[in-house]
Order: sequence, then structure tokens, then C-alpha cells
Amino acid sequence: MTTRSSHWRPQTIAIHTGYDPETTTGAISPPIYQTVGYAFESTTHAAQLFSLDQPGNIYTRIMNPTTGVLEQRIAALEGGIAAVAFSSGMAAITAAVLNVCRSGDELIAATSLYGGTWTLFTSTLQDYGITVRFVPDDKLSQASQLVTEKTRAVYVESIGNPRLNVTDLRQWASFAHNHGLPLIVDNTFPTPYLERPIDFGADVVVHSLTKWIGGHGNSIGGMVVDSGKFNYNTAQYPQFSEPDQSYHGKVLGTDFGDAGYAVRLRVKLLRDTGAALAPHSAYLILLGLETLVIRMQQACRNALELAQRLTAHPEVSWVNYPGLESDPAFPLATQYLRAGHFGSMLNFGVKGGRKAALQVMDHLKLWLIVANVGDSRSMAIHPATTTHQQLSREEQELAGAGPDLIRLSVGLEHIDDLWDDLSNALNSI
Ligand SMILES: *Cc1c(COP(=O)(O)O)cnc(C)c1O
Repeated sequence: MTTRSSHWRPQTIAIHTGYDPETTTGAISPPIYQTVGYAFESTTHAAQLFSLDQPGNIYTRIMNPTTGVLEQRIAALEGGIAAVAFSSGMAAITAAVLNVCRSGDELIAATSLYGGTWTLFTSTLQDYGITVRFVPDDKLSQASQLVTEKTRAVYVESIGNPRLNVTDLRQWASFAHNHGLPLIVDNTFPTPYLERPIDFGADVVVHSLTKWIGGHGNSIGGMVVDSGKFNYNTAQYPQFSEPDQSYHGKVLGTDFGDAGYAVRLRVKLLRDTGAALAPHSAYLILLGLETLVIRMQQACRNALELAQRLTAHPEVSWVNYPGLESDPAFPLATQYLRAGHFGSMLNFGVKGGRKAALQVMDHLKLWLIVANVGDSRSMAIHPATTTHQQLSREEQELAGAGPDLIRLSVGLEHIDDLWDDLSNALNSI
């Protein structure tokens, strides 16, 4: 029996859901099941597992008990009915979309997106016949005209990249549902501790576990959570509503109750594309997850304090942090994010433009220059010369990555050490 209690708070779920001390040894830490295969009880048992007539372990590309604990914990934290782990956040996003969009289908998306998602949507998906239509300025008032008979889903990030805009998820959910479409939400930046998109109407939640959930910059992983609330058993989604020939005519949208989306994700996309999370990575991410809540509390506190100190610094021209009352994201942040928590990402501009920004970066000693976020270590990057280097000057400005911008992922170090290093670097200008 695996532990699950519907009334547990996030702190308890993160430590207990999905695993009871194992009966043969009493081990209290979830074991790393470093195995590829699983012995079947008989040929009949094996055949029933393969035909999906009985649930159970078949092969680690499709499921693994260590990874399963992580899946149950993230599903419980997000308030979903099931979750499927992938080898990276990008693999999870790709599978979440391909589960509902086939060649010829269309997706509607916000423009404020993680860079990898942006290139997936504007380039790679197009190569496979899936068209992504972007909502101009993310203004939903203009989105209805993008819907066609081929549209199959709506995609958005709960806190957008790189502007740190907080998305009005209730509005996006009602837009999607008014058109009979599921809403897919990337909830990597807030984590389920700060925000649970399903509570606001999201149908599918995706995560890069690589960031705050793993939290220690040591493992890549992704997750897709199924709310179990959207009905895919319609003519729009024949992959769910019609018999699947690769499973002897099973109807994936009805034969597995409300979890058809998650089942298809696992037994079709994970099985056939093979982007499985390694059990050892699942273990490291589980270890990180146990302290998610206290890490987020500390990182959010540090980030708010730094945002306030930066605002007062003479070399700083602007600060973008959803927790500042002056920030455009503040009203939605107070509606959607856990009270007093605004995330650990922060952008600011340096008065001397590109030259000064690079000078500040090169004077940092404690802060690491890294293209990653959500680590226990504090990290800084200059997007215009790195992650957004390939864009034209106008595109950089549009993407919110102008030449004066420095982007911080605030970690767990002591606030005064972080500030000493940052203010020393700023004073070098
Ligand atoms: C990092 C990130 C991803 C991609 O995740 P990987 O694990 O690096 O593949 C997707 N979305 C957001 C918001 C991210 O920060």
C-alpha cells in the first residue's frame, strides 16, 4: 500500500506520499530500483500487463518504482490524479503537447515562454505539421480569432519568461474551456508550493524538475500532471475516442476512467519516444523535493530583500520582481501566489547599459555566471550576450532581454553575503 492522504499539506506530501517503509527491509528512504526489467509471475500475467488489462511493472522505459514515488508526490502536490515523469522538462512539454496535437493540428500559446519551449513551438513542431498560433501581447481579448477547427489545446506559463509576468490563469482556463480545449500550464517557476494551476482551471501541468523541485542543480528531469478533469473522449481527439490498434482496440479515453490522458502519455508517448527519467535521477529529485517548501521560503525571502535593496542602489535603473508593489505583475501575484511569496527570479537594469552590465557580471565572486535557474546556489546571467544572443536588438527588447538587463536566480545563501557581493560589483562601475 502506498501512502497518500488527501488532507496533507505540501510539507508532508513532499516527504511521505507514495512510499511506506518497504516491507522486506524496513528501509525508510525510497530505494533506488536500479533495474530495467521485472519478473512476471507467469506467462498469463506477462500477457495481461502488456495488453494493459492489469496494471504493473513491465520495463523501466515505461515505469519504475522509484520514479513512481516521485510521480505520486508531484501529482498530490499539484492536486492532479496522475503524473508521468520524463527525462527533462523539454521532453515533458513535448509529450504533453503531442498527446493532444497530431500532425495537422494546432496549438494556441502565450508568447511569454521559456526559450526551449519557444523554439520547440516556432521551429521543431512546425517540422512535424503542428502549427502554433501565438496570442499577440498575451491579450486574451484577441485570442478567439486564433481558434480554428484544428485547435487542440492552449499553452501558457504560470509565471512567464523572461519578464516574470504572472498569468491570469482563471481567464486563460475560461478562454480554453469556452472553446472546448484543455489548458496546459508550465508551473516550473512558482512550483506547486507557490501556486497550483489545477485549482484555477488548468487541465494539464508540466514541470522542469531540473529547477526548484530538484533544487540542487544536479539532475535533469520533467513531469506532466493530469488533472483528470478534461473530457478527451470526443471526435476532436480520435487518439482517445477511437480504438487504438497498437493496443488491440483499447479506447484510451474511456477504458482508464478519468486518467486517459496520463495513461496514453505513458503507454504511447513515453513507451515509443523513450524519454524516460533514470531511477537515480528520480532519487536525487525526491531528495530535493523533501525540502522544497523550506527552500522556497528562504529563496523567496532572499529575492524580495534583494529586490528592495537593488531598487535603492544608485547604479540600478529599474527592478522587475513580482513582489514589488510597483511591479506590473504585483496585483496578479497577490491573487495567484502563496501569500508573501513571489518566487526567486529577479531582473534588473544597470544605468550604464551593456558595458556596465557586463562589468558588474565580471566583478561577481560569490554569484556564479550560469545558464540555469532554481539552484540552491545564487546565479546571474546577462541574457543579451548569452541566452538571447541570437536575437536582433529589437527582438531582444521585445523578449524583455535588453542590453542593460541582468537576470538573477536567487539561492539559499545568507542575504548579507549575497548583497555584499552584488553591491561590490555594482560599486565597481
Ligand atoms: C528549464 C525550463 C524548462 C526546460 O526544462 P529542462 O529540464 O531544462 O528540459 C521548461 N520550462 C521552464 C519554465 C524552465 O525554466
